[in-house]
Amino acid sequence: MRKLCLITGASAGIGAATAKLAAKAGYDLALNYRSDQAGAEAVAADAQSDGAQTLIVQADVSDPDQIENMFAQIDARFGKLDALVNNAGIVDVATRVEELTYERLRRMFDVNVIGAIMVAKEAVRRMQQQPSGGAIVNVSSVAARLGSANEYVDYAATKAALDTFSKGLAEEVATQNIRVNVVRPGITDTEIHAKGGAPDRARRLAHRIPMQRAGAPEEIAQSILYLLSDEASYVSGAFLDVSGGR
Ligand code: NAP
Repeated sequence: MRKLCLITGASAGIGAATAKLAAKAGYDLALNYRSDQAGAEAVAADAQSDGAQTLIVQADVSDPDQIENMFAQIDARFGKLDALVNNAGIVDVATRVEELTYERLRRMFDVNVIGAIMVAKEAVRRMQQQPSGGAIVNVSSVAARLGSANEYVDYAATKAALDTFSKGLAEEVATQNIRVNVVRPGITDTEIHAKGGAPDRARRLAHRIPMQRAGAPEEIAQSILYLLSDEASYVSGAFLDVSGGR
């Protein structure tokens, strides 16, 4: 029987790469996206060609009603949830702290922290009902320990919050056969940089990385799949930096 994995932000970048790999690894998929329907449909078609059943669910994770509706659709279609990749996330344009606006902070924390926690909460409620439990991977960033000075300290702070949340949640649900881990990518070659107004960021900052190159989304996805898998059966509350040595 194929396991069911929900991936938030599956229409592009790391989420899309994770979906492709998860389908090959034998998961059925609930694929969440916010605005890029064509991207989500392309990912679903790819996953189906690898034998996965797919459900595309549009939801903005910063909206609790939309999260509730997303899980209702998953319940109706699959009636279970074995794995969650809490991947949806945003950055914003590079700026210094004195230029940060309240609206920007609100949005950043609503999506990257409150959204991720609300999605994890709904996932845990379902995994708790299953003797087989489940596995959660939260996608953070090395920014959580580097701080992202002069770029986006607010983004770094959201990822640090996600790290701490993950540690606590892992301990809370450990006896319920639910594992919670964190993958912290370094600079990865996706469209997130263009969305933050710096399309050349991955190439421009490669010199700061010991390996002298940005990561590929597939390289992040491999680590996510490992932490979801039974091969990581004794791994919980762990942080895996996938960052070229930085
Ligand atoms: P990306 O290419 O921009 O993709 C982001 C995905 O998240 C898209 O599918 C997007 O959906 C979705 N998304 C954004 N806001 C959402 C919301 N409010 N509700 C639901 N979905 C939403 O980004 P990425 O580089 O793959 O990043 C994925 C994760 O990795 C993020 O959490 C990011 O912080 C983290 N990360 C990335 C890097 C990097 O260098 N790329 C480094 C460290 C950590 P739509 O396009 O459909 O709106």
